[in-house]
Amino acid sequence: MKFDFIIIGAGMAGLPCAIRAADRKKKVLLINKNKLIGGKLSRSTGQIAAAGTNIQKRQNIYDDPDLHLKEALEICKNTADHSLLRLAIDNLGDTVNWLEEIGVKFPENHPVITYQHDIYSTRRYLWPVGYGQEILDRILPIIFKHISFKNIKLLNETIIIDLVKNNNQIEGVTLLNKDNKKLSFYSNNIVLAAGGYTNNEELFAQYSPKSTLYTPKFNGSEGLVHKIAERYSFKVDGGHLYKGMIGGFLKKSFDNHSVSVSINTIPQDRQPWEIWVNIRGKRFMREDHPSADYRRHKVNEQEMQKFFIIFDEGILINAPSIAITNDGGLGGHINNDLQFRKYNSIIELAKDTKINYYNLSKTIDNYNYYVNKKNDIFGREHLPRKIIGPPFYCIESVAFALPSPAGIAVNEKLEVLNTNNIPVRNVYAAGEIIGNTRIMGEHYIAGMGVGPTLTFGKLLGETLE
Ligand SMILES: Cc1cc2nc3c(=O)[nH]c(=O)nc-3n(C[C@H](O)[C@H](O)[C@H](O)COP(=O)(O)OP(=O)(O)OC[C@H]3O[C@@H](n4cnc5c(N)ncnc54)[C@H](O)[C@@H]3O)c2cc1C
Repeated sequence: MKFDFIIIGAGMAGLPCAIRAADRKKKVLLINKNKLIGGKLSRSTGQIAAAGTNIQKRQNIYDDPDLHLKEALEICKNTADHSLLRLAIDNLGDTVNWLEEIGVKFPENHPVITYQHDIYSTRRYLWPVGYGQEILDRILPIIFKHISFKNIKLLNETIIIDLVKNNNQIEGVTLLNKDNKKLSFYSNNIVLAAGGYTNNEELFAQYSPKSTLYTPKFNGSEGLVHKIAERYSFKVDGGHLYKGMIGGFLKKSFDNHSVSVSINTIPQDRQPWEIWVNIRGKRFMREDHPSADYRRHKVNEQEMQKFFIIFDEGILINAPSIAITNDGGLGGHINNDLQFRKYNSIIELAKDTKINYYNLSKTIDNYNYYVNKKNDIFGREHLPRKIIGPPFYCIESVAFALPSPAGIAVNEKLEVLNTNNIPVRNVYAAGEIIGNTRIMGEHYIAGMGVGPTLTFGKLLGETLE
């Protein structure tokens, strides 16, 4: 059976693609591995940066895509794919306007400037009142309407297992449904939107061999399509640029998929009272450095992309909570979390965490000296009090992945490229499957994960014939 579109993956990229194609009366086959559609939308904060939106215009914020592109390139130090960044940025305004049209509400004070990532010069960063879930809530009725009008045929709990190739050309897909039945369908527009591979440690190690994967658990990011892409010699790259985000810790020791994003490491929100040390017991950076990118890169340079936040009873009592969520602050976490531990002495702390004791005690002595002198060797400005304890506390913090770094290469028409950089006829890709580093390079650009994912899916739905 032939469809105008076959879309693999009903998540943040696949759903707008399906809607916009169906709006044009195209016949769409939408395939989804998970039981429910939505992918990671319900987990994401839905943060988007967009220039020239109606929201900005209503608030008299002057902005345009050229300025956005210039700043994005500066933030990523020109390490992203220039033409894809341009494509995304030129269309992000339309995406936000479309979200408003379908009923997504943004907070009244948005867009904003936030310090989670290196900042733009103007207010172009926003997210829905109800985060990613709100986008999903507005999208679902439209999808179900199209299903009822038979513009979209949805197959949940079905995976793509192969491509159909005839006369050297890809013409369709082979699927496996929940009853273990193989099905083949055909289309000139096969859109790969099956998300990432953060649930596949082997693939992560293959694409980013120098990094350790820490991530929140998400079923549906197994990288199955990446494997198919490799079999057909599609180009998959970008993993070497990976840099994990900071502010995470493991809810369960030794479970790298139990990351909780809950430590506030943003000095503009909360100045650090603690010191950050690596496994060798040494400080490695200015903890209150104003650049998010600087802090992230320094943490990623540490062994296993891990560091330890050390403080004492005096800091616990006097400092504002280091937790992002207001759920009882530090004390609440100490009782509940293995990675947030309490010790009677530094020697006990070092022994348990495997931090080098000799270096750690010297680091603390040196830090206390800098606090006295009000002059830190790393240039740290916020030096509120010494670490003298006991008890002493330690949070083991990791740099983690949200979107997958590597992905299937595409050109500015979102056509999939083979290993010789030649477009693969009939095959397109959008979303996390193209790899986060393609759009951001080696440096995180605010709002350029969710924004381009929605935008590229939507664009394919609007333009492919
Ligand atoms: C907790 C959390 C918070 C996040 N926060 C942010 C954020 O703030 N900013 C940001 O930029 N990003 C964030 N992300 C990442 C972001 O949500 C994803 O990059 C984005 O959702 C990817 O969209 P997608 O459509 O490409 O993939 P998904 O939304 O993952 O959708 C992929 C879909 O494809 C289906 N699928 C998978 N394999 C197959 C197969 N073989 N056959 C058929 N279907 C398949 C899956 O079932 C799934 O429904 C976050 C992720 C998590 C887990």
